[in-house]
Parts: sequence; structure tokens; C-alpha cells
Amino acid sequence: MTTLVQAALSIRRGARGSFGYITALVFGLLTWLGTFGAGGRPALEHGVLAAAWAAVVIARGAARVREERRGGQPFFNLELGLLLLVGAHGALQVFGGLISPLYPALYVLLAFMSSVAPRPVGRTLVLFAVAFEAGIYFVTEGHQDPRPFLLHAVFLMLFGLLNLIFTQAEISRVRMQNQRELKDQQERVREDARMFRLVAAPTDSAAADEERLARSSVEEVHQGLFFNLDLMKRTLGLHTCVLLLADETGTRLRVAECVSDRDIESGPFAPGGGAVGAAFQRGIVMNLERLRPGYNGICYYGGSTDVSAFLAVPVRDGNEVRGVLCADRLDDRPFTAADEQMLTDAIAHLLRTLENEQVFLQLERSKREHSVLHRASAALGAALNEQAVLDAALTAAAEIAPFDFAAITHYDAENRVHRVRKAIGDGAENLADLSFRDNTSLTAMAVKNRHYLPYRGEFDAGSQLVYTRKANLTGMQSLLIIPLVVREVAIGTFALAARRRDAFGPRVRPALSALANQVAVALSNAASVKQLEELATTDGLTGCFNKRYFNEQLQAKLSAAERFGRRLSLVITDIDHFKVVNDTYGHATGDVVIRELGEILLRLKRETDVVARFGGEEFCVLCEETETEGAMQLAERVRQELENTVFETELGKLEVTCSLGVATYPQHADDRTALFEAADKALYAAKHAGRNRVAAC
Ligand code: GH3
Ligand code: MG
Ligand code: MG
Repeated sequence: MTTLVQAALSIRRGARGSFGYITALVFGLLTWLGTFGAGGRPALEHGVLAAAWAAVVIARGAARVREERRGGQPFFNLELGLLLLVGAHGALQVFGGLISPLYPALYVLLAFMSSVAPRPVGRTLVLFAVAFEAGIYFVTEGHQDPRPFLLHAVFLMLFGLLNLIFTQAEISRVRMQNQRELKDQQERVREDARMFRLVAAPTDSAAADEERLARSSVEEVHQGLFFNLDLMKRTLGLHTCVLLLADETGTRLRVAECVSDRDIESGPFAPGGGAVGAAFQRGIVMNLERLRPGYNGICYYGGSTDVSAFLAVPVRDGNEVRGVLCADRLDDRPFTAADEQMLTDAIAHLLRTLENEQVFLQLERSKREHSVLHRASAALGAALNEQAVLDAALTAAAEIAPFDFAAITHYDAENRVHRVRKAIGDGAENLADLSFRDNTSLTAMAVKNRHYLPYRGEFDAGSQLVYTRKANLTGMQSLLIIPLVVREVAIGTFALAARRRDAFGPRVRPALSALANQVAVALSNAASVKQLEELATTDGLTGCFNKRYFNEQLQAKLSAAERFGRRLSLVITDIDHFKVVNDTYGHATGDVVIRELGEILLRLKRETDVVARFGGEEFCVLCEETETEGAMQLAERVRQELENTVFETELGKLEVTCSLGVATYPQHADDRTALFEAADKALYAAKHAGRNRVAAC
């Protein structure tokens, strides 16, 4: 039963929903059939039909409005549009058809609909209007000449689409205006912050924190100022009480805060010769009484005024005049000495408000800097290799002072060479792996003097060199190169550059220096860790890996070869008659020969091969994914290279040869020990066959 009721309700709802469409269809058909034009003039049935049409339009329109209020679709939809269009055509038919003088009303209707309808609906209605009119023109009214229709169609489309374009243009105009206003507002806050000296440098878009801080401080200062001025205005019965402060340039005045019975100008004013200018430029109190009406020496009124008493007291901050506090009255009561004193006291209070806010800001900044440095310190402490230290350093620097370019160099004191270890930002691509000898660059000077450069933090690419002439920075206005110093020794530099001016001034320099100190220590630690690791794995004489490391590698690579079914070859080298070399030329010369063989092996091996000194004058080479032939080719090249090397010794020229044995997994052996034995056997065979040769199993 309930299902039946629900079904009935939904049919009813559906029928109501499509009621407008059905009506539009019926009226469209009637118009198409020429029903409304039959009598040639309005008749009773026309009135009845018009009333029915109007009733449907009103009912559906009201339903749509209700729907929109409930938060549904916009009220104007296709249904209403079609109803209005067929209605309009019906009416036109009554009054003479498409040639009726009322026809232009259709353009107006279409323009109206496409401006209130959602865009796709608007477009559909324009198309429908053209199609429907085509039907009436050619069928109902039976015209042959298509030109008048085409003209109508063009106009219909123009009116419909022009409106869409205008609406779109209006939307983007409003959006742009909003954006402009928002930007203006931000700029005003920045200007105020600078006027109150709450920011040391022009804030950058990246310094969001600084901006947020400055904004809240600016609000705080405005409130304090307003309260003070308002109090004075009421106590002294003033018409206007206004505080003017010098802007950044120190030459123009702007209204910092004002309380007045009328609108006043906000500046900036060039102080000029008026009463305000005199108080500001000469730093004296201006007390004017019985001013004649129309006096125009008060800049913030922007012209003549009817005040009769005026008082301006300079705002003195130490020796500097930072602005003027002005008061005026309409009534003819001159300002007394007590009034002057009150304004002077108020100024002292106003300055304290500004100072407090500056201190508060400074505290907030230090708090932030501390937390950045703390985080950086933790990150640098956790970084064990150079790359991780460099990354942590650049991340922390960006938080302290936003930059457009940053780089860290390492200084090799022994060879007096600077090498860029990491560079990011504009122009960094030209610097990757750049190295240069000590020169006149700021980098070299900073290392030499162990002091940051340039002193003022300004950069001029024409006269200053950051690294080398070929790879200098361009387009930057600010630069700071801090030496990285560990235990009094400069191990490199940390450079930051920015396109804006004053990016690395005294406000951020201490924090950056503290960061640089931590970076220096972390880099030095990373270098020590690397050295220790190398000591544990390499042979001191040749720089090749040591036996322990080689055995580990061999074990690991054998397992991999076994798992993936790959081959792996082992080459063992042994210098021929080496005892004789030692005995004849001495141990030192013997060492030179061993070192040379190590260098030959490292030079000739493939990137994935592992070379180790196995003890004495024996070396091993591990060749991954290599057949016996491949390993023998390498062994042969090594043999020839040593054979062709001539050693200059005190006893004359010395030539040395070596023998090499090759064995391959899995052909010759299936584990580590067996592989060594096999290679050793091959080596023995080479020795036995006369030395200075390569042999395989
Ligand atoms: P063979 O052709 O049969 O290899 O003759 P050989 O004289 O080279 O014999 P062997 O390989 O057994 O000689 C190893 C010699 O290498 C022993 C030792 O005097 C010398 N030796 C071992 N370690 C070092 C080293 O670190 N420096 C120097 N200069 N000589 C070393
Ligand atoms: Mg030997
Ligand atoms: Mg030997």
C-alpha cells in the first residue's frame, strides 16, 4: 500500500517537474501550426491561451525560486527559457508574425535569458531560438528567401552570446578588482610596519612568518595610537588630533593615526612650508591662534580649513624628529602651555608604545630563530654524510632568510683549491662541480680572512667576483658569503644571494653565522666519518680495498651470482721476482712498484670490478658477470701495462713484470675458497710457464 502511495507521489512530482516542458511543447506546436495568427487580430481564445501560458510560467517560476532558496539549482533553467521563448513567438504571431514591429523584443528577451541563465542553458536557448524561428519562417509563414531569416539568426546569436561575453568580462573585472584591493591592503600594512620601524628590511613574499608578525604588531600599534589620540581629543575638546610620521625616506609625512570630526587626507605629504612642515623640519612647536577662515597651511586638510587654533609638536626620538603630533580646534580657544605639555607627554607615551612593539617583535623573531637553529642543529647532528649535511644546511638557511641562490664550497688547503659541493637556485646549474684555485673572488677572500663578505651585504656583478669570472652570479642585489670555520681553520664557504635588496642585513646575519658554525662542524664530522670508513676498508699504500673488505664483497657477490645464475671471475696478480727488486733497489722502490701496479689495476678495471691488495705484492680483481675470456683480457692489459712501465731509480731504469691467474665461478669452483685455490693454481701455472703471462684454470 505504502509503495503504491510512494509511486503515485513520485509520478505526481515527475509530472509536475515536466509540466513546464509539456506546456512549452504544446505552445510551440500551436505556434508552429500558426494557430495564433489565424484571426489576423487578437481574439478571445488568444486571451484564454495567454492566461493559461502565464499561469504555467508563474507556477513554474515560483517553484524554481523556492528550489533555489532551498539551496538547489539556480532558478532560471531550460524549462523557463523554453516557456518564455515559445510564449514570445506565440505573441508575435498574434501581432503579425516575424515581420511584426514587435520582433526586436525577442532580442531583448534572449539577451535577458542568457544573462540570468547558467552558461550552457543560455547557449542551448540561443540555438533553440534560431531553430524554432527557422521552422516558423520557412514552414509556418512559408517564406522562400532565406536572407531575412539569416539576418535574424545572426542577431539572435549576437544578442545571446554578447551578453554571455559581457557577463564573463564583468566577473573577471570584479575578481581583478578584489585582488587589487587585497594587494593594496597588504601593501598598506607593510608601509605602516616600515613607518613604525617594525621591520628592518622590506618583507619578501616568502617571509610569511615575518609578515604575519608585522601585521599583528601593526594592529596593536594602531589600537594604542587611536586610544591615545581619542583620549586627547576628548580631554582638550579638539576638532582633529593626528599623528604624522615620516615614511622610509624620512622626507615625507604620512598619517599614522587620526581622530577627527571630519575626513582628512592620509598623505604622503611633502612637508613644505606649512605649519606642519615647520614643526617637522625645524623641530619646533608651532602654536597658532586666531587663524583666519580659509587658512590652508595644514597639509592633512588638503586645502583651506576653518579651524581657528592649531598646535603641532615635533615627535622627537633622541636627536631625530620622526614626525609631528597635531591638534586643532574650531572654536577660538588658543592652546595653552599646559596643552602643549600634554601633547609632549602623549608623544613620550606613543614612542614607548612603538618601542614596546619593536621589542616584542624582536623577541618573537629571536624565538623563531632559536627554534629554526634548534631544528637545524638536530638535523645536522643526524646527518652522517656530506650530502645530508649540505641538504640540512640549505633547508635551515631558507627558513632564516629566503634566498634565490645558495651554495656551499669546500676548500682544499693543501692544493689551495675551492670546490662547489652543492648549489641551488638561479644560476646553480653553471656551478655544479666547479673548482678553482685561490683567486681574488669573495669566496677565496672569505676563506682567507675568516670573515663574512661583502661587509654591507650588497652585490654588484660588475665589480665583485663570487667564484670565477666565467661562473659569476648575475641579477642578484644581496649577497652574503660566510666562511665555514672549524677550530680556527676555514674549510669552505656558505654563500647566499637574493634578487631583492637588504636580504641578509644585521637582523638575520647573526643567525646565519650561527648556522654556518654548526654546518662547519657537521661537515668536518662527516669527513671524519668518511675517513674512518675508508681506513677500515682500504689499503694504506695503494688506496685499493683491503683483504677483509674484498672477502666480504666476494662472499656477497658469489651469493648473488648463485641466486641469479651469473658468472663471476677472479684475477690474482703476483709480481715476478719481487724479492730481487727489494733486495737490489730497496724496499722503498719495491713500494713504488706495488703502488704503480695498484694504480694500473684501478685505471683498467671496469666500474663494477673490485680491486684489493691482498698482501705483499699480490692483488685480486673481482669481475662481476664476466666470463673467463673477459677476465683474461683485463689481465692481459694489466700485464702489458706493467711490462711497459719503466721505473726511474737511483740505480738506473727498472722494469718489472707480473703473472696473473684467472678462475671463474661456476666453471672452475663453486665456493669462495675453491675459487681462490683455482685462481692460485692458474697463477702458479703462469709462473711455472715462465712468468710475465696470464693463465686460466
Ligand atoms: P715470484 O716471481 O715467484 O713471485 O718471486 P717473488 O720474489 O716475487 O716471490 P714472492 O711473491 O713470494 O715474494 C714476495 C715478496 O714480496 C716478499 C717480500 O720481500 C716482498 N714484500 C711483501 N710485502 C711487501 C711490501 O709491502 N713492500 C715491499 N717493498 N715488499 C714486500
Ligand atoms: Mg708473492
Ligand atoms: Mg712474486
